[in-house]
Parts: sequence; structure tokens; C-alpha cells
Amino acid sequence: MKFRWLITAVLSGTLVYPHSFVSSEITGNDLPDFGDSSGSLISPAQEVELGAAFMNSIRAQATLVSDPEIDGYIRQLGDRLVANSDAPSYPFTFFVVKDSSVNAFAGPGGYIGIHTGLMLTARNESELAGVMAHEIAHVTQRHLLRAYESANQMNLPTVAGMIAAILLGVATENADAGIAGVSAIQAGNIQRQLNFTRANEKEADRIGIQTLARSGIDPYGMPSFFERLHQSTRLYGNSMPEFLSTHPVTTDRIAESMSRAEEYGHGKELDSLEFQLIRVRLQVLDSNNPQTALKDYQSRVKKASAGPAEHYGLALAYWRNGADEKAQKQLLALMKDDPDRTTYRTALAQIQLESGQTQEALSLYKDTLSLYPGDLIIGQYYVAALIQAGQAKQARAQVQKMLRNKQARTAGIYKLWAKAASISGPAWETNVASAEVYNLYGSPKLAIDQLKQALNHKGLSQYDQARIQARLKELKQILAARQKR
Ligand SMILES: [Zn+2]
Repeated sequence: MKFRWLITAVLSGTLVYPHSFVSSEITGNDLPDFGDSSGSLISPAQEVELGAAFMNSIRAQATLVSDPEIDGYIRQLGDRLVANSDAPSYPFTFFVVKDSSVNAFAGPGGYIGIHTGLMLTARNESELAGVMAHEIAHVTQRHLLRAYESANQMNLPTVAGMIAAILLGVATENADAGIAGVSAIQAGNIQRQLNFTRANEKEADRIGIQTLARSGIDPYGMPSFFERLHQSTRLYGNSMPEFLSTHPVTTDRIAESMSRAEEYGHGKELDSLEFQLIRVRLQVLDSNNPQTALKDYQSRVKKASAGPAEHYGLALAYWRNGADEKAQKQLLALMKDDPDRTTYRTALAQIQLESGQTQEALSLYKDTLSLYPGDLIIGQYYVAALIQAGQAKQARAQVQKMLRNKQARTAGIYKLWAKAASISGPAWETNVASAEVYNLYGSPKLAIDQLKQALNHKGLSQYDQARIQARLKELKQILAARQKR
């Protein structure tokens, strides 16, 4: 069985959009002005525009993890930290880059990327949260302003592509990556502006540690992760972790962040089972060799220290090797002790769905949704399963219900709506849903085209017509604001 990331064919669908679940509904009006005293560098609206162009470049240059659970975990952890940061209303977007290098970065517009390599290197949740809190602080403290400034001197897609290439660590390997038309001098300038100064680093550590403590996460996570990165530079030699090229770690800095952490003392939470499960999930699902992964977990569960994470890994490894029955057995055993855990339930339902046990899968999703009403990850799985089971009408009703919640208005969920509508809805509804996907991917122009097409369909009620027209007006305003500069 060729494994695909848990996103099914239905989720990616026939509609061709850039691959990712990353999205966040952002308009210039939502952005608080951070009160930058110079005021001349970049306006909040320009930052939104640069952020959208940056994210498009990231999608073009990197593979993003589209597994709803891994992506959802990072978003939840990120949201928890943002809620306890100095800018809780700033529209951050967290996403996972499929790349084994140890790296994390903050881009314009609050886009924060975490490489899978970093997630696997972090030993516990507080270490991962430490890096994320540090990146959040670079955004809230406006440390990227100097890099944004280049946007005023160069054409926007070019500078966005350049920033993306540098932050992803591909700029040196592939000088052409989305950066045509950039001279070596300009590229060097941007690189220098992206390298945070020591003062910036210390400030991001200080603010980040405060965010960790406020979030109830162990503040020692940050110095502990940096210390390990610092030690690893000796081993890496020339190919040191990418993270260190933009965030130099010195012994002095580690000592300082350690004493900051001491001010708060150890937080309650060092780790969570969910973090261990997500790591195992990455390890097994991302492995190039499923047979080796299976052997690995078969021996891991025999150890005395083996816990639920090892058994979950074994279940996923069985699944990847096509041993669906054994996989199900492992998951059912885990659910005996921990029946309500969504990670086990969704894995079981996914396997059931692939093994043709459609009814069992659908009722497991439904039951899980009744345990956690409004949970967006389970909702997405359920809608995708309904479509796959040929129940597009129910899928459409379910996704429309989900979209009443503002949090649900992500590109991934709009894509599901478009898919369900294309099968069972009126034709104009597919256009309306697609318009939202395009807008979230930073193309209001394509979104407007979709809405115009929607209005051309016959049989629209007056109510729907008015709604589409109102949305069209909003999108035209967004586009006009962009073109003004
Ligand atoms: Zn930094």
C-alpha cells in the first residue's frame, strides 16, 4: 500500500490549489499598528501584502505538511502561546515545513514556519514551544522591520521570494529559487537584514520566556533547546542547523536565557502525551522506509519503558505496511485505557475507511464529534469521509455548519466545501467556495473572477445574489487597496 499523508484524495480533490492547509483570514484592517515610531517603513496593509506574497513563495519553494493532526497540533500550540504574548490579537499563521533540517523562522505578516526536523529534534513540548515563543517575539517586537524595508526598494514578489528562500535555507543551494532579478548585492543585503542582531536575539529570548511562563509551559524549554543546538554545531561542522544562521546562539546568550528562566522557575508542563504522539506520527508517516519503521517500533514496544506513544507508532507502522488488521488491534488496545483520545480515534477511523469499513468509520467520526463538538480537525476528517463515501449532500451540510464558526474559515475547509458543492450543490456554490480559497491564498483577483462566474448562474435567489455581491464588493476593496501602493 502506497502511503499518503493522511489527507485523502478527496481532500486534495480535483480542484487544483497550492498544497497546504495553511491559511488565515487576514485583511489589512485586522492588523494592529505596532506603533513603530519611524512610521515610514511599512504600513500594516503593506505588511499583509508582503506576508501573502511571502507565503505564496513558501508554497512554491517548499513542501508543507498537510496532515490535519500535525498541522492542527502546531496551530493549537501556537495559538496558546500567542494568547499569552504581548500581541494576542495579531493574526499569526503557523505551518509545518517538510524538511529534515533543524529550522524555524518568522516571516512577514506573522507567518511562522517550523521544520519537521526541528519537531523531531525537540525532546519535549516545552523545547518546541520555546522556539515558537522566540519566533513569535521576533514578530511582536518588530525585529523584521529592516528586512521589510527592502520591499520598498524592490518589486514585491521578488523580495518576498528572496525572504522565503533565505528563511527556508535554500538560497545558498539554489540561487535561482524564486529570486530572478536579484543582484548579488541585493541578496546579500536582505540576508544581512534577516540575520537578527544579538540584541534582537536576547530580546526575543526574554519576551519568549515570559510568554512560555504565562502559558503554563516550562520556561527552561528555551535555554535547554538552544544549549543542545549550540553543542551540536561542533558535530555539524559546515552544515550547522539552519536555525543558527539567522539566530546565532552563544554561550553568553544561553547563560542569560537560563537566568531568565530561573526567575520564573519550572512551569507545570514539561511535556504532553500529545507531543509524543505527534512526534511518533511524523517519524513513522514521514519515514522513507516503512519496513524499517515497523521493525523499529516492534522492538520499541518490547522495552520496559514502552508506553502509549510506542504502541501508537507500531499501529501506524503496521498501517503503512498494509497490515491494517494488526494496526486496528493496536489502536483498540490503546483506546481501552484512553477511550476519548482523538488521535487514536481518527487513526482508527482512517484505517477503517481505507479498509472499506465505511459505516464504522463514519460512525466513529460522528461519535468523536459528539464528544468534541466543533473540533475542526475531526470535522475535516468527517466531511472528507462523507465525500469519499458518496454522501456529498451530508458533507455539504456538515461543512456549511462548520463554516458558521469563524475559526473554520481556512483554505482547507473551504476546499472541502468546494468539493462537496461541486458534487451535490448548485453550480454557483462551488465558485463561491473557490473564491474564498483563492482569497486566502492571496489572490483576490482570482477570487473576484470566481464570484463573477457565480453571479452568471441562473436560479440564484435574491438573498444569495445579494450576499455574493456584498462579498464581491469587499474583495474589490481589498484588491484596490493593494493596487494603490
Ligand atoms: Zn531569533
